Amino acid sequence: MSDCLFCKFVTGEIQPDKVYEDDDLFAFRDINPQAPTHILVIPKRHIATLNELEPGDQALLGKLTLAAQKIAKDEGIDGSGYRLVLNCNSDAGQSVFHIHMHLLGGRGMSWPPG
Ligand code: AMP
Ligand code: ZN
Repeated sequence: MSDCLFCKFVTGEIQPDKVYEDDDLFAFRDINPQAPTHILVIPKRHIATLNELEPGDQALLGKLTLAAQKIAKDEGIDGSGYRLVLNCNSDAGQSVFHIHMHLLGGRGMSWPPG
């Protein structure tokens, strides 16, 4: 998608603070961190919202979660804990329409979320 910010990160047209990349995934630090560690993990393929996921994307979502697990370990927050968040559409506050998993950690977090 030519007008998608996160697709521009994947192609290198814009360079975020990258923390991880493999054949299918890309991860970078959130520009407006909500916790000491706040990283976004995205599929390289443009998928606008969780509603567009298909059965064939099962493995991709598994990879996304395992990449977040690895990054959490690299960041040293695996033991203290972390939260993975996927927002879909307006009620959840999705603002960038290329799916992304938030990895948040480094502080205690309350529940329920706001
Ligand atoms: P969401 O509200 O779930 O769609 O999350 C979008 C996230 O993208 C927010 O946490 C933003 O701070 C983050 N974001 C927006 N622009 C950038 C950027 N240029 N670099 C890194 N993160 C960004
Ligand atoms: Zn995109």
